[in-house]
Formats: sequence, structure tokens, C-alpha cells
Amino acid sequence: MSFVVMKFGGTSVANVERIRNVARHVKREVDAGNKVAVVVSAMAGTTNQLVAWVREASSLHDAREYDAVVATGEQVTAGLLAIVLQSMGIQARSWQGWQIPIITDDAHGVARIKDVPGDKIRARLEQGEVAVITGFQGIEPTRNRVTTLGRGGSDTSAVAVAVAVKADLCDIYTDVDGVYTTDPRIVPKARRLPKVSYEEMLEMASLGSKVLQTRSVELAMVHRMRVRVLSSFVAPDQLKPARPDTWNEIGTIICSEDEIVEQRVVSGIAYAKDEAKVTLLQIEDKPGVAARIFGPLAEASINVDMIVQNLSSDGKRTDMTFTVQESDLERTLEVLKTARKEIGYFDVKSSSDVAKVSVIGVGMRSHAGVAAQMFKALAEKGINILAITTSEIKISVLIDAAYAELAVRTLHALYELGKD
Ligand code: ASP
Ligand code: MG
Repeated sequence: MSFVVMKFGGTSVANVERIRNVARHVKREVDAGNKVAVVVSAMAGTTNQLVAWVREASSLHDAREYDAVVATGEQVTAGLLAIVLQSMGIQARSWQGWQIPIITDDAHGVARIKDVPGDKIRARLEQGEVAVITGFQGIEPTRNRVTTLGRGGSDTSAVAVAVAVKADLCDIYTDVDGVYTTDPRIVPKARRLPKVSYEEMLEMASLGSKVLQTRSVELAMVHRMRVRVLSSFVAPDQLKPARPDTWNEIGTIICSEDEIVEQRVVSGIAYAKDEAKVTLLQIEDKPGVAARIFGPLAEASINVDMIVQNLSSDGKRTDMTFTVQESDLERTLEVLKTARKEIGYFDVKSSSDVAKVSVIGVGMRSHAGVAAQMFKALAEKGINILAITTSEIKISVLIDAAYAELAVRTLHALYELGKD
């Protein structure tokens, strides 16, 4: 018998029929003697609709009321799943964020979980009751108001609940059957990775592979909670109940590096097309300029990713290029315009026709030459690199969006990721 957290995303609970399918997955676990807490997302498309209504009501809306509205999607699915489970003869009860409580800070819309007391739920599980918990939402204790955790936040709720109830296994059911070496829609030969380290998954999540919310991976890593990603679209009776000894037979397990025997230098290729590039022409080449550019952007909560400063030929003036999220581009240009006098630039150029392609692998720590190989392969395909960033375990390049697929395919082949 194990304590299991099962999380189901929006497509898995998109309508009552699918919620029934989810209930069958839960029943399989209960019948096998497992103690189950379920975390659910809102029905697919619901959160988008709720956000759209809030924006329609007022573009300058109050963040506390935004949360009051968008948190409702999960309440619907949690209640419905509890009802369906009960109708199947399973003892089940729904729980909203405030009832547990999932305590967060007061950053409405992007709240961070601070604490989840797990005793109450754990006691219910021990008695054989299934707890169906709303993902995505919490409560901030000062004003006693509902909060939400940012888009995709149910993954983070699931990991937090798993940590809180001291779960043995944390299963994230989704519409794909695991984490792949790259997007299989671009490279049909992409392979499912049986295991990925927290560090690699963190890079993949933040670099555009949308399987898990980045914060959920951070949380799992901090608490060393192993997390499995698997598909909910497998017939419920085709899957084995979650058990530690057979857990690794399907899906992808996100775990610590030393658990992974088969180590490759590169584990995956990620890409993101929602990037935009901004170039400031002829800024002064002297101390303090970078601070004057990026200070105001930081104050406006705009995340800058890659930064390239050219060498100045005359020692006086140079150009600076950096990237931001495409959705932040307009605001970025406004901030730069406002700060033009302090920064002192000649002109701004921007483009959102760019893509970031990254190779990721913990093996890079101990292998030299990965970057050189990568740049050579891209050059051979005539792909121009606009900017580069690296960390210990990843190399990212910014290229023209038109070449994104070609670059992904080229790199996937280069590191032989399609081979077993
Ligand atoms: N329903 C929320 C969203 O769409 C949270 C989630 O599904 O993880 O962002
Ligand atoms: Mg998701």
C-alpha cells in the first residue's frame, strides 16, 4: 500500500465523460489498496475563458478579484470528480485551497505556496477517504483571500500536496505519455525519456517544454519528491496501480541525477517561439549603462533573458541586444522610451520573429565541446546565431523563427537523441 497523489490536467477533465475516466483511474488505485489524494485542474479552456471575462470587465482589474474569478474553474472539477467517485461507491470529499489550507503569499495571480499543513488530509486518507483537491488555488492568511498560483499552477499544487501528506508517489497525469527528447510534432523520432533529473527538467520547463510548471519542478527538487509524468488517455484498466517497484515501467520519472544510470551528454532539445529581441543602438560604452537599461525593466517586472553587448570599435559607443518574452515586448519598448534620456541611446530596434533553441544535459558539466559541435552543425545548415547564453547544463541560441524547426531537427540528429 502506498500514499499516492494523482494530478489531472485540463484536457483530462474537459467534460463529465472524461471526469468519469479520471474516476476510473482513481478507482484502480483505491481497489489496489492505495491511499489517494487527487489534484485537479479546471476543464480545458475554462481558465482562459475566466481570464478573458476579467479582462473584458476591466483591463485594469483588481488582482484580488481576478483570483476570486479564475479560482472557480478548479472548484467545479473537484466537486464533480467527488460526485462521480461517490456514485462509484468510493468514499470521496472535495477540498478547496482554503479548507486545507494551502497557504500562500499575497502575490495575487502568481502566488507562491508558503505552507501546506498535511495532517488533516493525511488522516482522511488513512481512513480510506479519497481527497479531491482543487489545483491552482490557495489562500493568503493576512486578508484571508483566495489566491492563484500562476498559469499551469496545478502541477505545483500537486507536488505541494504530495510533500504535505508525505506521499510515496506523485503521479502527474496529462495528455502526453511522458517527457520527450524534443517535441515529437517536430521530430517524429523523438524518444520518451524514462528518467530526467530535476535540473534538466527545470531547464526544459523554463525553456519552453510545457509539460510541467517550472515552480512544480523547483518544489519537487527542494523536497526531493520524485514525480512521474504519464498519460491519462490510457484505458484505466491498462495501467498497473502505482507501486514503488513497478513505477518506472511507464511515463517519465523526474528524480535526482544520481538515480539515472544511462547518462548522456545531451538529454533534450527545447525551443521557445514566444521570444522577442530588442537592440539599443549606440549606447555609451561606460560603467553604469547596463544598470540604467535593466534597472527600469526590472522595476516593471520584465524578465530579460539573453543579453549581448557588442564591442565598441571606438571605445565610446556600442550596441546592446537582449531578449524578453514576446508578450512583454510592448511594455519593454514603452519603458525604454520613458527612460531614453537617462539611458542615452540613438535608436531602438525590435523583432519578435525569433526563436530560442536550447540543448540541455547534465552531462555537459563533464564534457567539453558541446557548444562547438552545436554551432558547427547550425552553421552547416546556414542558420545564423543572433545571441547565445549558457549555464552549466544548457546552451541556448537565438535564431530567426523561420529556422526553429530545422535547428531542432539538426540538433536532435547531431546528439543522436532518437537512438536507444
Ligand atoms: N487551470 C489553471 C490554468 O489553466 C491551472 C492549471 O491547469 O494548472 O492555468
Ligand atoms: Mg499544465
